Amino acid sequence: MSDFKPQEGLKIGIIGGGYAGLTAAYELQKAGAKVFVFEKYGIWGGQAAAIPLLDTYIEIFYHHLFAGDRHIIGLMEELGIADRLRWIDSKVGFFSHGKIFDFVTPIDILTFSPLSLPDRLRLGLTSLYLQRLNNWKPLEEITAKEWILKHAGEAVYREVWGPLLRGKFGDMAEQVAMVWLWGKLKLRGESRKGLLAKEKLAYPMGSFQVITDALVRRLESGGAEMFLNSEVEEILTESGNPKKVAGVRLRGGRTIDLDVVIATLPNYAMAEIAPASIGEEYLSKLKSTKYQAAIVLLMVSKRSLSHIYWLNIADRSIPFVGIIEHTNYIPPENYKGKHIIYVTNYLDRNDPLFRMSPEELFLEYVPGIKKVNPEFEPEWIEKKLLFRAEAGQPVVTLGYSKRIPEHRTPVAGLYLANTSQIYPEDRGTNYSVRLGQQIARLVEEDYNLT
Ligand SMILES: Cc1cc2nc3c(=O)[nH]c(=O)nc-3n(C[C@H](O)[C@H](O)[C@H](O)COP(=O)(O)OP(=O)(O)OC[C@H]3O[C@@H](n4cnc5c(N)ncnc54)[C@H](O)[C@@H]3O)c2cc1C
Repeated sequence: MSDFKPQEGLKIGIIGGGYAGLTAAYELQKAGAKVFVFEKYGIWGGQAAAIPLLDTYIEIFYHHLFAGDRHIIGLMEELGIADRLRWIDSKVGFFSHGKIFDFVTPIDILTFSPLSLPDRLRLGLTSLYLQRLNNWKPLEEITAKEWILKHAGEAVYREVWGPLLRGKFGDMAEQVAMVWLWGKLKLRGESRKGLLAKEKLAYPMGSFQVITDALVRRLESGGAEMFLNSEVEEILTESGNPKKVAGVRLRGGRTIDLDVVIATLPNYAMAEIAPASIGEEYLSKLKSTKYQAAIVLLMVSKRSLSHIYWLNIADRSIPFVGIIEHTNYIPPENYKGKHIIYVTNYLDRNDPLFRMSPEELFLEYVPGIKKVNPEFEPEWIEKKLLFRAEAGQPVVTLGYSKRIPEHRTPVAGLYLANTSQIYPEDRGTNYSVRLGQQIARLVEEDYNLT
């Protein structure tokens, strides 16, 4: 810890109004700093943002929490909104060989008929082993495909993990490191109280907007300057010292002087706005991160598609990877009796599907939806909204940890806190809250804030 006095009125700018940015701002404001939050779009919450719909709010991308998500739950307790959380049994399914299979309990796995009985046992035992494994280090150096083929066998890869990995990572699926899959399974294991128990997931009634609102209100009432529709186009350095941050320039030309800047945007976007003095080594780490984009069609439907909340699509002839029927989790009574259904896809940002209009994408998806529910008629859908996240999912390849850019950048006063640095866990709101708290602690340490 440095020995200089706390800096009076330290001005901290935060780029990005998602959960990492809002949490960092909240923590640093509590520590006495004057915070400025810049969000590119006209809405707070980033990937966890919600929009008004059917007299309530609903996330643009389906969201829930897991039992192990203690950082975000702790934050909700501190904000006095933890009573909004409801713990509800999840209903997970698998669409494979033209049929929906329940996929929640070990019994479901043991009756999953696309696999032979010995393969089902292998799937169950390897999943249990991974959920109980704590030393994940060796899993950094082997791909998920290699590990599964070796320990669970070809059929388990072909019928279960292969389609899921391809669904989430497309052409990059075979390069994904086993540590990523371990992180996912570990998390799911923690959401279950016993071997045969059902998985419970949590949802804040009224949507994640409840959390976003509570954070924004605390920030505003504490004197934070909150800027929506304010894209940062350049991070500025001192004129005589390019190795020291000086502020930001917003789209439109306005500049704001700052002592510290925390960037929470994805690595490729940081590479575009960072000062050249950040240096080649750091830049090459920023540029090395690959992301899969997410594209999600949110539909308001007159009827339900299935009994499943989270339906994984293993049939690769279907051009999407999942159907998340939110109202099989939070009942339709909360949404004027309508059914909220998300059709989700992860793909490369350059994939033609990523640029389609909601109507075009819907037409592309209709045959696949009909495979899942042959009764489905397009007239069921009363409203379609399309949302895209360019940096939907960082792709964890072999040796990923060596390429993670540091939180403290080579430019004094400039910090980075984004989903590429969440490791070995998979990204999620809980970890963005943790990241916001971690980056705040670093800044407090560096600037002697209390
Ligand atoms: C389809 C999908 C489903 C998900 N489901 C879940 C789930 O069920 N549970 C869960 O916990 N998590 C889920 N997540 C993940 C979770 O939403 C994210 O990990 C988390 O919200 C990321 O927060 P963040 O603040 O780190 O980043 P972001 O939310 O991406 O925030 C970064 C912000 O920076 C802004 N920005 C970018 N560039 C600039 C700029 N130049 N100037 C100003 N602002 C800028 C962006 O607009 C954005 O608001 C899901 C994500 C997706 C895509």
